[in-house]
Amino acid sequence: MPKSADFSSRINTIDKKIWIFDRDGVLNQKAVEPNRYILAEDSLILNLSVIDFISQLQRRSLKVTVATNQQCVGKKLITEAKLAKIHNKINEAVQKAGGQNLTYYVCTHLEADNCVCRKPKPGLLNLIMKDFSTNPQECIFIGDSESDEEAARTSKIKFLYFGDLQTLINGLA
Ligand SMILES: [Mg+2]
Ligand SMILES: [Zn+2]
Repeated sequence: MPKSADFSSRINTIDKKIWIFDRDGVLNQKAVEPNRYILAEDSLILNLSVIDFISQLQRRSLKVTVATNQQCVGKKLITEAKLAKIHNKINEAVQKAGGQNLTYYVCTHLEADNCVCRKPKPGLLNLIMKDFSTNPQECIFIGDSESDEEAARTSKIKFLYFGDLQTLINGLA
């Protein structure tokens, strides 16, 4: 991970105060088929370069939060308490990298519930903006799926695909 002024300037180029991350496929590797969900903290394989990047954002006083669909809760495959353990494990890694605990905005509904928060709907992103008293111009959302991109587009938030984040992290941008 570069720690140079060069790296700072790349973050400054993006010029966003609130960095919102999707979870699966971004902070951690997606669940391996046929299991579509991460149901235990032991199955979590973290993307450590992203975790380190998040800690660097926080050290620059930028806000970092997570917006994730976890229909597995609605399907009763996992409890809210167990989900919190998974998020604690991610937080421990962020702390170990020198950062602070992340806040998690989670849609736990079933797709059939037709809620307002399940991505590609913009509910989670809109709630984050409300809670942080901010506006789309100050935010960026990083995800790995078209539903993430659509949620960002509807919220009028800048979107970055995970692969482009990796390019940024690796200094190839
Ligand atoms: Mg994802
Ligand atoms: Zn929902």
